[in-house]
Amino acid sequence: MSDLRTLYQEVILDHSKRPRNFRLPADSNRQAEGFNPLCGDRITLYLKLDGDRIADLAFQGSGCAISTASASLLTETLRGKTTAEAQELFGKFHDLVTGKAKGTDSLGKLAVFSGVSEFPIRVKCATLAWHTLKSALEGGEKPVSTE
Ligand code: ZN
Repeated sequence: MSDLRTLYQEVILDHSKRPRNFRLPADSNRQAEGFNPLCGDRITLYLKLDGDRIADLAFQGSGCAISTASASLLTETLRGKTTAEAQELFGKFHDLVTGKAKGTDSLGKLAVFSGVSEFPIRVKCATLAWHTLKSALEGGEKPVSTE
């Protein structure tokens, strides 16, 4: 298990240092802002919805390693998924980081955040991008705050 934990930490570090899809897309049609006042994490998430499918997504902002890595992995994981699949994954991810999940089946790379459940204050960092995604899917008029 300790080898796995080291691997997970390396993946999180890699994504926080070189976040994927960290850009301002030209043709997004949904966006939302998220803020986690506990840690100071801020992100803006941009989606290109094609009917019910997330054709593209990207983000900008600044935050701690966990929030940046989480946003980066979210954008990687959800490209091409339907909005229903995205909502379902959010539920599973939330269970994972709050320690309610029985396993990491079907979470793929998102499993790297399993250690977050041991640090309750970090749960909001890990879920910020997901709350922001939900807001973007629902219209995104109001910025979301984890508080
Ligand atoms: Zn944070």
